[in-house]
Amino acid sequence: MTASPMFDANLDSANSLWSARDLAVLWHPCTQMHDHERIPLTPIARGDGVWLIDHDGRRYLDAISSWWTNLFGHANPRIGAALKDQLDRLEHVIFAGFSHEPAIRLAEELLRVAPPGLARVFYADNGSSAVEVALKMSFHYWRNSGQPAKTRFVALTGGYHGETLGALSVTDVPLYRATYAPLLGDPIFVVSPDCHMREDGEDWRTHSLRRLADMHAALERHAHEVCAVIVEPLVQCAGGMRMYHAAYLTGLRRLCDEFGVHLIADEIAVGFGRSGTLFACEQAGITPDFLCLSKGLTGGFLPLSAVLTTASVYAAFYAEYTSGKAFLHSHSYTGNALACRAALETLAIFRDEPVLERNRVLAAHLAAKLAPLAAHPHVAEVRQTGMIAAVELVRDKATRVPFAAAERRGLRAYLHALTRGVLLRPLGDVIYFMPPYVITCDEIDLMVAVAAESIEAAVAN
Ligand code: PMP
Repeated sequence: MTASPMFDANLDSANSLWSARDLAVLWHPCTQMHDHERIPLTPIARGDGVWLIDHDGRRYLDAISSWWTNLFGHANPRIGAALKDQLDRLEHVIFAGFSHEPAIRLAEELLRVAPPGLARVFYADNGSSAVEVALKMSFHYWRNSGQPAKTRFVALTGGYHGETLGALSVTDVPLYRATYAPLLGDPIFVVSPDCHMREDGEDWRTHSLRRLADMHAALERHAHEVCAVIVEPLVQCAGGMRMYHAAYLTGLRRLCDEFGVHLIADEIAVGFGRSGTLFACEQAGITPDFLCLSKGLTGGFLPLSAVLTTASVYAAFYAEYTSGKAFLHSHSYTGNALACRAALETLAIFRDEPVLERNRVLAAHLAAKLAPLAAHPHVAEVRQTGMIAAVELVRDKATRVPFAAAERRGLRAYLHALTRGVLLRPLGDVIYFMPPYVITCDEIDLMVAVAAESIEAAVAN
């Protein structure tokens, strides 16, 4: 198989040589590999701030922070220096029976900055694993507490929590879930407070609050068999950057307390400043029973995740070994020292620099630049929460009838933007922006100008 002739006219280019070697041996995530017969693969030689630079020297603005992981730029010198220092001390050590300074300091720091009331940190090594940990811990808590009938979970329609079987069970994105449905658990899906679905003239708050009635009804009926409700606070990211009002979370916390079920906040995508506050739960003034973190946790350098939970959850597992109550879950790379060190440095940047204040300026600039797109005849909505903005394309603006999925309009936007040096990776027909926080206003202007051009390319017949 050869790389795309469309993009690699010069078949001797370093890019095409690396592409050919890659496509001979690799299988990429979330990819129909056949697409690479016509879609270019972009081998990246190095990163520099918001820029990715390929082997032929072409530069791409990483408008999606490499799957929402990068916060302070590629090859960030400060995180890099911390890692170099850590490399000469300790790369990794078994985390059962042994411990190390970066993991301890990181847990202390996470508990310091997280919503109040969280008291314990359990590490894993990717977002899906964190979700598995939270689901298993919640289930196991109820079992340890003499309530073994609680075996199910409540999740929101349009939610996404990862690709492993437990996380996929509570995910409601058919593209990822449908094929594997026979392998998955049976959660109770409740209609999302997604404000894209609000009535004409209805504000976000009213719409989101109205949706609490569905949650109330579901919990009234099922609480006796439910361990936890799991949600993505404020933004359902992989489901299409669908957004809702913080008042829903406040109400949801109240309902979970009323009906005696846990609340799992999956802030894997929205944590660490993406939503405008360090954690999205802050905007609702709530503390979940489990807070799942990953992605931006290490500034985008290394895989790591953490589940923060309460002293009362911890206490339900704390007993003589023979009681059989221990949480015997493990991953070999739990609490990896390099990853913890990168995370510590990432949190130090939040402490030392006015990151959230700077982001407010950037977010306002992004909003102003995107505003004119709302009038576009194929744009159903432009929406934004903090440093996450999205433009939803439709065939018919008045009725919001989408384009046929097989037309892959978003893919056209992706391909066009690549030729203009911007990495967008639309979710279906939703073009979105989640840039690293080190982006400048000029770079936002470029990103939005290229996106606008790419939208024209996408909607053209
Ligand atoms: N939860 C949410 C909200 C996510 O956005 C993601 C990743 N997109 C995950 C869980 C899964 O994380 P990972 O890809 O690291 O397994």
